[in-house]
Amino acid sequence: KPLGVALVGLGKYSTGQLAPALQQTKLCRLAGIVTGTPAKAAQWKQQYNLPDANIYNYQTFDRIADNPAIDIVYVVLPVALHAEYVERAARAGKHVICEKPMATSAEDCRRMIAAMQKAGKKFSIGYRLHFEPHHQEMMRLGQTQSFGPITHLAADNGFRFNNDTPWRVSKQLAGGGPLMDMGIYCVQGVIYTKGQLPVSVTAKFAPKTNPTLFREVEEGMSWQMQFADGAVADCRTSYGENLSSRLRAEAANGWLELEPAFGYGGIAGRTRQGAMSLPNVPQQARQMDDFADCVLTNKPTRVPGEMGLRDVQLLSAIYRAAETGQKVSTKDVVAVLDKM
Ligand code: NAD
Repeated sequence: KPLGVALVGLGKYSTGQLAPALQQTKLCRLAGIVTGTPAKAAQWKQQYNLPDANIYNYQTFDRIADNPAIDIVYVVLPVALHAEYVERAARAGKHVICEKPMATSAEDCRRMIAAMQKAGKKFSIGYRLHFEPHHQEMMRLGQTQSFGPITHLAADNGFRFNNDTPWRVSKQLAGGGPLMDMGIYCVQGVIYTKGQLPVSVTAKFAPKTNPTLFREVEEGMSWQMQFADGAVADCRTSYGENLSSRLRAEAANGWLELEPAFGYGGIAGRTRQGAMSLPNVPQQARQMDDFADCVLTNKPTRVPGEMGLRDVQLLSAIYRAAETGQKVSTKDVVAVLDKM
């Protein structure tokens, strides 16, 4: 019997991606919802045929502990709320998936990891691209040094933000701007292609063309990640302009790249030897089925809370580098590497 998933927060990502993906999963299914909006509860109840017993609001959420139909809680709220809901789900004794970025501070990440450990339940971050064939191919080619050691990487990810989700430009709710939301994919892509963590970072904020909208958070950012062997990665993110969505690595004997790289579909890749002929797959369905498989077979997830902590630590280091204009060491970042 497929595991029951409850989505917490029925915004754009839950509505447009996760709920439809849960109609395609094999090992888990949409069994419940947590929402503060009664009209959404009514609509989802009808559309997905949900029993009243599996519909919660933010006040009644903790009663999910007594509901055996819900195995997995998936937290899809603004970033600053992730910690509270992961901790409450842990106390309710549920397995948890938490959206990216994991939290607005490393301290929150550590509390979340500790709560999940105490609960003895599985915990993963909503890193969908780890389950996407082109990204898996970048990991394989990069980490096995198919074209020799990688010497240079480049990654861009950004879009023109139209304020449809105002929490994204609230420092308090989002923790930061496009670096937290979109730049995180560049940080991840670079690390799993290189197969190493950087030793330091430098960074620069982009000028603000819309200081009213970007009053609290950066409008854009460019940064560099430096590796122990001298390799460097040049990255860029923005909420002010549509950047190309791209991940590229140059090695001693060739190159590999994805463009478009980071979307929900339409990913295309090529290497010096030609196009990657790989399929586009339903990423979120694969990601959630992999997590359900980890729960069912007691396997470790490839995208654990510790990886979420690592990335939040790296994002903090990049902010510190931009704020100080100095090179910032990343030696204290938790040493989690991506497995293929
Ligand atoms: P959204 O604004 O569309 O949805 C957020 C939901 O949280 C809304 O339904 C809102 O009502 C609810 N909410 C509860 N308390 C709130 C509060 N105090 N302030 C604001 N909203 C509140 O945002 P989204 O795009 O669905 O993003 C939700 C999460 O999913 C974020 O963590 C985001 O980073 C993540 N996300 C991940 C991906 C991915 O590809 N993995 C894509 C999009 C979003």
